[in-house]
Amino acid sequence: MANLFQSVRGFNDVLPADSAAWQQLYRIAGEVFAAYGYGEIKLPLLEHTGLFKRSIGEVTDIVEKEMFTFTDREGDSLTLRPEGTASCVRAGLEHGLLHNQQQRLWYAGPMFRHERPQAGRYRQFHQFGVEAYGMTGPDIDAEVIALSARLLKRLGLTDVTLELNSLGGSEVRKRYREALLEFLLRHESSLDADSQRRVRSNPLRVLDSKSETTQALLADAPSIQDAFDDAARAHFDGLQQALSDLGLAYRLNNRLVRGIDYYTSTVFEWTTTQLGAQGTVLAGGRYDGLVEQLGGSATPAVGWACGIERLLLLQKALGVEIDSSAADVYFCWLGEAAQREARKLAEQLRDMVPGLRIVLHADGGKLAAQLKRANRSGAAVALILGDTEVEARTVQVKSLRADAAGASAQQILPWPELAALLAGLVK
Ligand code: ATP
Ligand code: MG
Repeated sequence: MANLFQSVRGFNDVLPADSAAWQQLYRIAGEVFAAYGYGEIKLPLLEHTGLFKRSIGEVTDIVEKEMFTFTDREGDSLTLRPEGTASCVRAGLEHGLLHNQQQRLWYAGPMFRHERPQAGRYRQFHQFGVEAYGMTGPDIDAEVIALSARLLKRLGLTDVTLELNSLGGSEVRKRYREALLEFLLRHESSLDADSQRRVRSNPLRVLDSKSETTQALLADAPSIQDAFDDAARAHFDGLQQALSDLGLAYRLNNRLVRGIDYYTSTVFEWTTTQLGAQGTVLAGGRYDGLVEQLGGSATPAVGWACGIERLLLLQKALGVEIDSSAADVYFCWLGEAAQREARKLAEQLRDMVPGLRIVLHADGGKLAAQLKRANRSGAAVALILGDTEVEARTVQVKSLRADAAGASAQQILPWPELAALLAGLVK
């Protein structure tokens, strides 16, 4: 036989045993986004390469070395999206959602970056993101952060820290760039190679360097807060006040700049010490210049994205329990008459109890073998239908787990009473 194909490096399959955790995550995220009135926007995986170059910035890790870019049959340069914000702005402009409007949006899906694969870092990974447009005040920065805090809490992720900084707005950023550049040039020869290459074109990028020697050197770098004007100070104070009002603790980190050029003022990250070098689980900020930069009218914007795989890894590291069962009920039957009734009963129960997950046994066999499958399915309850039960229009109900919602170890119930009992199993 020819060699079997393997998946492309950094591109992973998610098997049914793991997809329960994914589904729970998507369900909880959907509820949290809805709780703040955010609507879903579904964006394509492929965009024109120029969109990412212009938004993320030419002198960034993503654009310099991480994009999956190719020329299609018409000769156009296309790129598998490395992130969602650029596409969201592109779509918002294309469909007239941004001009003089307020929008609260969320998206989810795969992103692609050609990085070195390791735990928590893949070439295809998945993100949730939220974006809010048309609102200038710090209260909306606080809202997207509160939303992220609620999401992490609902997912059982406790061991996380909120880090906060501000780049002060585009004017302050420009002024700070000069001060930082002057400092960095004084220490140019001590910087890591990437930082030396970038120091003139994009000095702020150096703050985001992963090199330890560069980071040590940066301890004496000028702080961006010293460059703040009154507006920047008021916005950042307002955000901190709002977070305090909401009881959200944060740590100020004046080196935090994020790896993407479009951020203009607020930047924040939720980090954990549980995932080694892949410690950032959720990150974002305010990007008031991007809509205009992509051809729209000036529009304030703030948002964040999180790495779904990292949230799942953190759930695992913290021992968060996930219900990975595929069924609530496993329906066993013995003999042809029982098979026909079981088929009909299973459909009726699905009609009567929305959300109830029933696996109907297939292909016959002995009761012991069927119950073995029932146990393996993770179902809370097995139903057993044989000739005697069909005759009496009853069914045996056998509880398989301690949490089988009112079903006793074994009981016999008339058909009409089944739906009420099983409704208790729906989560
Ligand atoms: P990092 O510093 O870890 O490379 P980043 O600054 O490149 O992260 P963003 O572009 O802000 O990350 O993306 C937001 C989130 O997406 C990250 O905080 C992380 O959780 C996740 N993420 C980014 N790149 C990857 C990847 N290659 N694999 C898995 N998750 C990722
Ligand atoms: Mg990165």
